[in-house]
Amino acid sequence: CGIIGVVGRGDETLDVVLDGLSTLEYRGYDSAGVALSNGTLDVVKRSGELSNLREAIDAGESVPGGSVGIGHTRWSTHGPPTDANAHPHTDESGRVAVVHNGIIENYRALRDELEAEGVAFESETDTEVVPHLVARALDEGLEPEAAVRDAVERLDGSYAIAVVVAGEERVFAARNDSPLVLGVAEDATYLGSDVPAFLEHTRDVVYLDDGEFAVLSADGWRVTDADGGRVEKEVTTVEWSA
Ligand code: GLU
Repeated sequence: CGIIGVVGRGDETLDVVLDGLSTLEYRGYDSAGVALSNGTLDVVKRSGELSNLREAIDAGESVPGGSVGIGHTRWSTHGPPTDANAHPHTDESGRVAVVHNGIIENYRALRDELEAEGVAFESETDTEVVPHLVARALDEGLEPEAAVRDAVERLDGSYAIAVVVAGEERVFAARNDSPLVLGVAEDATYLGSDVPAFLEHTRDVVYLDDGEFAVLSADGWRVTDADGGRVEKEVTTVEWSA
């Protein structure tokens, strides 16, 4: 339902992600979660109100850390609103975390394929096939960006997807039939399902189109098409306020 992502805000990453989720609350949701990445991934997710997520973070042994972050508010389509079905979803090794808006129409076939290879699923969502597909592509030797592209190429349906990979100072994104927009600033780059997610940080935005991929880093961003070719995107300045 709602997506926020950020690279380049250092120690403020968790606050930026949680504030972004608050501004997305108006869309409605039944669960929420965050993943922060440094050398490893920290993932916290809870069904119910955002306050449940904040309480779980406050009660945790350590505050999720890392300078790359993604967050999600979920409006369930596949699987009831439980902690396990909340996003982000991860692969078995905990290297890859994914948030997703939309519906992956062919998830059943992909799940059967992955389970036949021995992958153990932790949720009932359509989304969880994505981190497992990315992890498999990484295992096959692909670089993170290529691994995300390889996974997304297998998907049918509607998706706005954000992916973090442990050890990578980048957020990877893909869109088809579900909105996704970049927020561009001097020393940080943001991602949102909607501009309000990051409007307090920047008004310069880049709207992704269907079939496009984006790579966000602290010092820039790049958009490519389905074939991997660079797309020259226009940066527009949002005049309205939230
Ligand atoms: N289909 C996914 C799920 O049920 C994503 C739903 C959403 O857009 O929040 O978990």
